[in-house]
Amino acid sequence: HVGRLPVAFHDAKKTGELVSRIMSDVEGIRNLIGTGLVELAGGLLTAALAFVVLMWLSPPMTLLTVGCLGAFGVVLFQGLRVLRPIFRQRGEIYADVTGRLTESLGGVRVVKGYHAEAREAAVFAGGVRRILDNVFRTLGTTSLLSLASTVLLGVGGAAVMFLGAREILAGRMTVGEFFTYTMVLGFLVGPFFQIAGIGSQLTEALAGLERTRDVLRERPEDEDPRRTVSLSEVRGDVEFEDVRFSYTEEGEPVLRGVSLQSRPGTATALVGPSGAGKSTIIGLVCAFHSPQSGRVLVDGVDLTTVRLDSYRRRLGVVLQETFLFDGSIRENVAFARPEARGEEIEEACRLAHVGEFALDFADGYDTIVGERGVRLSGGQRQRVAIARAILADPRILILDEATSSLDSESEALIQEGLAWLMGGRTTFVIAHRLSTIRRADQILVVEKGEIVERGTHGELLDAAGRYHAMYTTQHGLTSNLFLAPGEEARGAPGKEGEDRQPA
Ligand code: ADP
Repeated sequence: HVGRLPVAFHDAKKTGELVSRIMSDVEGIRNLIGTGLVELAGGLLTAALAFVVLMWLSPPMTLLTVGCLGAFGVVLFQGLRVLRPIFRQRGEIYADVTGRLTESLGGVRVVKGYHAEAREAAVFAGGVRRILDNVFRTLGTTSLLSLASTVLLGVGGAAVMFLGAREILAGRMTVGEFFTYTMVLGFLVGPFFQIAGIGSQLTEALAGLERTRDVLRERPEDEDPRRTVSLSEVRGDVEFEDVRFSYTEEGEPVLRGVSLQSRPGTATALVGPSGAGKSTIIGLVCAFHSPQSGRVLVDGVDLTTVRLDSYRRRLGVVLQETFLFDGSIRENVAFARPEARGEEIEEACRLAHVGEFALDFADGYDTIVGERGVRLSGGQRQRVAIARAILADPRILILDEATSSLDSESEALIQEGLAWLMGGRTTFVIAHRLSTIRRADQILVVEKGEIVERGTHGELLDAAGRYHAMYTTQHGLTSNLFLAPGEEARGAPGKEGEDRQPA
C-alpha cells in the first residue's frame, strides 16, 4: 500500500518514519491479535461461565464481587484512556527518531565530512530521552492501575470472606460449598486482572492501529476513479497543453503555462538555470504529479485518465542520483525486467559498456555493489543505470544527466551507451553536456517555470537569444560544461556541483 501511494506522499514523509510505521506499528497489531485478543477472548468466556456457576452457588456474594469488579473496570477504563494518547505519542517519537537516524546514517559521509558525529549523536540522545520521558509517563499510570487492582483484590477478597463466614455461621452454606465458591471465583476474577495486565499492551497496539489506519486511508495513485484508460501500446507522443503546476495548493506556481510537443522517437533537451522547473516537467511526464490546470497527453490521451501501471511499464528513467540496490551488478541491471534471460542482461551490459569494468572484477557481473552502489565509481554506477534502462526497452525515456564531471574516457563510454539507449525512443533529458544537447531534436530553454526559447542547437544559436548568451558565456568560461567528450578543456575549471549547467 505504501509503495502505491503517490510521490507527493513520499516527499512529505521521511523514509525512516515510514519504515517505523510499517515495522513497529504493525508489530503492535500482531501483538494485539496474536496474543492479546486470543487470551482476552478465552478469559472472557471463562469468566462468563464462572459467573453462571457463582450465581447458582451464592447470588449475594457474586453480586458483591461483580460490584468490586465493576469499580475496577471503571478505574481500568480511565487508566487506559490516559495511556492511549501517551502511547500514540510514543509511536510518533519513535518514527521521528528512526527517521532522523536513517537520515544521518544514510548521509554518513556528509556527517563525517563536516565532523558532525557528536552533534548527530546528541540529536539521537535527545530523541532517546523523549522516548524515556514517555515511558516514565506510562509507568506512572500503569503503576496506579496495578495498585488499584491490588487494593480491590484485597478489599473484595476480605468482603467475600466476611460474607461467606456469615453464611456458614447462619447455616445457609457449608464449608465445602464456600471452598467451591472461592475456587470458581478465581476463574471470574482472573481474566479481569489479565485485562489489566495486557490492557496497556492492547492500548499501545490500538494506538499503532490508529496510525496504521491513517496511512491506509491515503489513496493509492492508481485508485483514482478517473484512471480508466489502459494503454496497451505506447507510441511515445508526449504533449503539454498550457500546463500550470505548483507543489502545494497555496504555493508559488512552479510551471506557468508550459506547452510542448515531443514526437515519437525524438529527443527533447531541457536546459536552464537551477530551480527553473526542468525536473518538475519530467516529473509530470512520469505522472508523479498531475497539473493543476492544462493537460499532459500521451499518444493523445490525458495522463490523468491513464492507468499508471499500463503507462509506467513503457517508461524508463535514468536519474542523476543513479540508485543501485545492494546486490550484484547483474541483479541491478535485471531490476528493470527480472524475467530477462542471461544473454539479454549481458547484451545490455555490453551496450552500456558495463562489461569493461565488471569483467575485471573477480566475480564479474556477480560482483556485489554495496548499498546504493557505494563500491562502484560514479561513472560505473551511471553505466549500470544505462544498462538497466536498455534492458527495460522503454518507449519513453527520462534522463537526468549527471552534473559531475568524469574523465573523458568514461564520459565517452557513457555517451556511447546513452546514444544507443536514446535511439528511436521519445527522450526527455535534463541536459548538462553539449554533446547531448546537440544531439537533441529540440532544445527547450526553461526559465522561471516557462519555456522561453525552443529550437535546435543551430537555430537557437542563430536566434542570438538566451541560449546563445548562455552558450557563449558558459562555453568560454568553464572547461567541462558544454564540452563534448574528448574536446580540449579551455579556460578555468568549472565549479563543482549543481551549477554546472547552462545557467
Ligand atoms: P530544476 O530541475 O530546473 O532545477 P525543479 O523542477 O527541481 O528545477 O524545481 C522548480 C521549483 O520547484 C523550485 O523552486 C523548487 O524549490 C520547487 N520544488 C521542486 N521540488 C519540490 C517539491 N517536491 N516540493 C515543493 N517544491 C518543490
